[in-house]
Amino acid sequence: MYRTNTCGELTISDVGKTVTLSGWVQRSRDLGGMTFIDLRDRYGITQLAFNMETNAGLCEKARKLGREFVIQVTGKVEERHSKNMNMPTGEIEIFVDAITILNKAEIPPFTIEDDTDGGEEIRMKYRYLDLRREPMRKAMELRSKMAIETRSFLSAEKFIEVETPVLIKSTPEGARDFVVPSRMNNGQFYALPQSPQTFKQLLMVAGFDRYFQIVKCFRDEDLRADRQPEFTQIDCEMAFVEQDDVLNTFEGLIKHLFMAVMDEEFEGPFPRMSFDDAMSNYGNDKPDIRFGMRLRDLTSLVQGKGFKVFDSVEHVGGICAGGCASYSRKQLDAITHFVTKPQIGAKGLVWVKYNEDGSFKSSVDKFYTPEDLQKWAEKFNAKPGDLLLVLAGEKGSTRNALSELRLEMGEQLGLRNKKVFAPLWVVDFPLLEWDEETQRYHAMHHPFTSPKPEDIDKMKTNPGEVRANAYDMVINGVEVGGGSIRIHDQQLQQQMFQALGFSDEEAQEQFGFLMNAFTYGAPPHGGIAFGFDRLVSLFAGLDSIRDVIAFPKNNAGRDIMIDSPSAVNKDALDELSLQVVKKD
Ligand code: ASP
Repeated sequence: MYRTNTCGELTISDVGKTVTLSGWVQRSRDLGGMTFIDLRDRYGITQLAFNMETNAGLCEKARKLGREFVIQVTGKVEERHSKNMNMPTGEIEIFVDAITILNKAEIPPFTIEDDTDGGEEIRMKYRYLDLRREPMRKAMELRSKMAIETRSFLSAEKFIEVETPVLIKSTPEGARDFVVPSRMNNGQFYALPQSPQTFKQLLMVAGFDRYFQIVKCFRDEDLRADRQPEFTQIDCEMAFVEQDDVLNTFEGLIKHLFMAVMDEEFEGPFPRMSFDDAMSNYGNDKPDIRFGMRLRDLTSLVQGKGFKVFDSVEHVGGICAGGCASYSRKQLDAITHFVTKPQIGAKGLVWVKYNEDGSFKSSVDKFYTPEDLQKWAEKFNAKPGDLLLVLAGEKGSTRNALSELRLEMGEQLGLRNKKVFAPLWVVDFPLLEWDEETQRYHAMHHPFTSPKPEDIDKMKTNPGEVRANAYDMVINGVEVGGGSIRIHDQQLQQQMFQALGFSDEEAQEQFGFLMNAFTYGAPPHGGIAFGFDRLVSLFAGLDSIRDVIAFPKNNAGRDIMIDSPSAVNKDALDELSLQVVKKD
């Protein structure tokens, strides 16, 4: 028997017992007469004690153990002199009678402690060592718990988990596909699913009624902290539902997860905000509503006073940063620097200080009187002591820049507390969005999303104004899930493909199987998918989804531990009739 107990469970009530533990040497301290070792396993850390006077041989042996050696010890549980009340086992230690070295270990390339000295790349290369650290282990435990709670909630709601294939044909989620060559069908390729979208709809045609799957999806996109080429979704679909049925069911799931995992209860339904309101008040379709600081449109108020910068643009908008009128020149310069960074793209910043004494000071005093500025302040419901920050330009990009500025100010003012969760639904998305580059409409969600019935007539005349039965769940400025009520009528689906610029042949070739299925009695249906990695990282209070994935890829899409992707040998290529043409 390797162990009678784990390293996380012995307490004062076990004093006097003889126990056997196995684990890793986390740290050892040599205090002359005594040597102490912290022995670690998945469950915790237990202190081992060796006495030079009573057992010199064993003490010498203990001193020679290196970090991360795997050992087994047998000894007696004793009460500690200097207790550590911060850890569950902190009141006891084991006086060891016997040690067996189960395995030696090389010196690890970084310290395996909560605060490690290892940079991200080295930790990814030795991920199995990184995963020994408590914060990593906790994140994986949280992930496992959330998956189990998801399954238990959804199965209680009569959802069944169905696996869908991984070697498929392109799915239209708007990213590039990963493709896999087929040996048996020379010259042809499978695509990896960007989502199981078409399959879950086919399961509804099959009469499955309520489906879910915790499933890997693959999208070949440029990577960021919250993106990985392969990621996990909680993918769901329901038949005979309207938008409200879907929202209520999945609000239930998210509330259940918060309660079961974080002991956090939400009263009442999550707020619902239209896409238009989100864009005009927050400049963003995933608003962080932990704080206000809403965007205000100042265009008509500020134009026509001779200030060219404002007069020559489509849109002037701003935010009001509460209590920031005391900002120094340097702080204002830093904000200007922030908004004019290429990623944010503003041309400049106009600021107005609404001083505590009620007077105004601004960067546009030459053009606007204190009475004018008073009107601006009223627009924001500003109070003395507040600071107005104003940007101007094309509408979309100005709102976008204001949204970034709002988040930055929220951060600076400590309004984005990671322990506070503010979920909402964003609804009434446009069905289509115009793409300047390709000069055609794209589906904002995906081509199977149904238009609102009252807007169907506009599909031919005014496609940009058609609203969709589509919704996103947003928590703290993160889009954690999104879905829609689907088109279940073959003709409407065809009309949608036309609006997207597909010829009938193209639509038939790519999605003929689905349109065909719709001719065999497709029920009305709709669904949603949650980004599981994002949800876990949000619950864990972590910024990067990499920290909640056991074996993630780096920013270049590489797994540096197993060194993938890598070249394949010529025989394998020949079998697939493939040739690699080197790019210069
Ligand atoms: N397939 C969609 C996505 O991956 C979600 C859905 O519409 O259910 O975003």
